[in-house]
Amino acid sequence: MRATDDRYRGEQARFELAMRMITHEARTGTIRYWTGLSDDRIRKLYASYFKYAGRPVRRRRGRSPSQIAPLVRSTQRALESGVLANLLIANRLLIADIGDQPKLKSNIRLGHRFCESYETYVGLIPRPLLNFEWGWNLLLSIRRGDELGIARCDDCSICYIVDRLALPRNQCPACSTIIEIRSESTRH
Ligand SMILES: [Zn+2]
Repeated sequence: MRATDDRYRGEQARFELAMRMITHEARTGTIRYWTGLSDDRIRKLYASYFKYAGRPVRRRRGRSPSQIAPLVRSTQRALESGVLANLLIANRLLIADIGDQPKLKSNIRLGHRFCESYETYVGLIPRPLLNFEWGWNLLLSIRRGDELGIARCDDCSICYIVDRLALPRNQCPACSTIIEIRSESTRH
């Protein structure tokens, strides 16, 4: 009986994760990766629960974004990506220091934590630039580690994102923002 209960709870969590990701307009491939549900099941969930709901949810097809430039192109973007990266670290979706990154595929518990991180980010930033899929791209790109890395600022000690291939290395976006604000206030 216990095994049946556990399995039921597992199925319920999987279903809830898919629903949660659909409300964030995640792509089918992203939902499949995290939940292990088939494209057909995901399509049916969308059709039965969201298609004719009061609040329309778009179903995005195709591939998730994979470029990294938009994540660090400006100080504002680097700052926002850094906020989300810090939340991903706090939720143990990313390990900041070199080490084994947690397994994400079909990991329902971490999938919910990823949603939580993204929802907190949206709650913190007045007009967030990153949608859910860009948040997912950020997590994957940092985990891949070939283009994006995490640095810690010696002055303000926040973690921020660096483009590993850019020269010179980008500065801490939090400290850069403070310098910009100060120089603007002395100009006026
Ligand atoms: Zn700093």
